[in-house]
Amino acid sequence: MELLQTRAALREWRRSVQTRLGFVPTMGALHEGHLSLVRRSLAENDRTVVSIFVNPRQFGANEDYHRYPRTLETDQRLLESLGVSVLFAPPEEEIYSSEDEALISMTRLSRLWCGTYRIGHFDGVTLVLTKLFHLVEPARAYFGEKDFQQLRIVEKMVEELFFPIQLVRVPTVREPDGLAMSSRNAYLSSRGRAQAVALYKTLQYIQTLLPKYRLVSDLLREAQQYLSERFPEVKLEYLAVVDEYSLEPMVHIGQTGSPRALIAAYVEGVRLIDNMPLHVPD
Ligand code: AMP
Repeated sequence: MELLQTRAALREWRRSVQTRLGFVPTMGALHEGHLSLVRRSLAENDRTVVSIFVNPRQFGANEDYHRYPRTLETDQRLLESLGVSVLFAPPEEEIYSSEDEALISMTRLSRLWCGTYRIGHFDGVTLVLTKLFHLVEPARAYFGEKDFQQLRIVEKMVEELFFPIQLVRVPTVREPDGLAMSSRNAYLSSRGRAQAVALYKTLQYIQTLLPKYRLVSDLLREAQQYLSERFPEVKLEYLAVVDEYSLEPMVHIGQTGSPRALIAAYVEGVRLIDNMPLHVPD
């Protein structure tokens, strides 16, 4: 595996290979969730490029950019052992050098849900991915359902900007108790870790409530009550049932569209997100 850290080196390598590439963009601190994307790419493409870049533009002023875990050497060893061709891990100045920066923004999807709490977050995501897609020129790119709103935004961006890239959705990888794997789980104490399962449990609870309600607002009220009674230390940011294509809130259970439950919450000051597709009973 080659470790490349400049745009020039990546471009040179890219020109030397004619095959179709699989691409897995990440911020590192790799866990099984990331590795499932990498394995999928390795299985479906001749060569796989993984990027590790903790993207400053997708962190707000009071967020965890500086303390975000950086474990490049361990990540590098892992990726090498799996058979990745190139690890692209550029320093910040390779990606952001201009004083007059481009802005890539999905005007509707980026403003919903996480976008209302993390102002500018998805603009940072779409900007860095546009740059990385141009540099890597992959045939396929792999994204986790764990970050479902991000996935929909990137799908829409690729469609809107005519990127000749096929996006592949990879299901969320969970810990044995159901907690979605995340690099941020490492911030939690053992007490916080026990509370963090609340997100998954609440999503599951919503699924069990579906036969009982017609109105989503009534269902969400009971689900929020469950969360606050069972997991009092968890601070809910939002809980929603949305149509998974438009990400707009659903009003009735059983209305047309595919429902998906979304949740964001803080545990010990750590912001966690999760989501789950819902199966409406006949
Ligand atoms: P990140 O390093 O957090 O930017 O994530 C890089 C990619 O890995 C994104 O496409 C995420 O959706 C995906 N990912 C992160 N955690 C998981 C998980 N638990 N299961 C599946 N994919 C994940």
